[in-house]
Amino acid sequence: RMNLRKITTGSKNLDDLLGGGIETKTITEFFGEFGSGKSQLCHQASVNVQLPLEQGGLSEGDKVAKAVYVDTEGTFRWERIEQMAKCLGLDPDQVMDNIYYIRAVNSDHQMAIVEELFNLVPKENVKLIVVDSVTSHFRAEYPGRENLAVRQQKLNKHLHQLGKLAEVYNTAVIITNQVMARPDVFYGDPTQAVGGHVLYHAPGVRVQLKKARGNKRIARVVDAPHLPEAEAVFAITDCGIRD
Ligand code: ATP
Repeated sequence: RMNLRKITTGSKNLDDLLGGGIETKTITEFFGEFGSGKSQLCHQASVNVQLPLEQGGLSEGDKVAKAVYVDTEGTFRWERIEQMAKCLGLDPDQVMDNIYYIRAVNSDHQMAIVEELFNLVPKENVKLIVVDSVTSHFRAEYPGRENLAVRQQKLNKHLHQLGKLAEVYNTAVIITNQVMARPDVFYGDPTQAVGGHVLYHAPGVRVQLKKARGNKRIARVVDAPHLPEAEAVFAITDCGIRD
């Protein structure tokens, strides 16, 4: 596919697993249990996208690549961005200026935000859109089996829009999805499997995250025909995502 670009995750191991990094024109889903590193990866990518091309970002010359961070659970931390930026030798204030932070208060708001991105993304050279977490509002507002159909329908529309943004503007999209420790069991239950059976418009990469010893995490790509069935180990350090 043409003009595909990659954003470094900060971990060489994880980049290799992903075929070079987080791809544009693609929805990358990080799913895993509480504390598995989903939000940390989102924070890191929002910083790293701003790096120049030769350092794994998508900034070109004086054209800075920016990020949009849609936060549904209030877990975004500016201090974490500041810390990650400093570790990369970037000006933290500039890095923070180049992240559009939007708190989504419910699923309708979340969907409306994404609609509006069709204006913002091209105008501001946004090269990464994060939705952390993509599923939480939908789960809370349309709980249980009886709401499964409408929940899936709304979520599919939302993902379709995100996929369109990715394709049309050659932008990377990261979504997160909190699931319990054993996704094989989890996805067996359709009332829980909000992100389990979705139809992406853009090609999607699904990455399962698991806690390992200490600050180590294990990433595994699932259902991706073009990527090897392999695992990568990365670390969450004070500076952010590293090997
Ligand atoms: P949740 O579902 O709670 O959002 P998550 O998968 O998004 O979970 P993260 O918030 O990405 O989890 O990861 C949390 C982990 O990141 C913490 O357990 C901690 O180990 C690590 N972490 C967070 N901040 C720092 C920091 N400043 N320095 C080192 N490690 C950190």
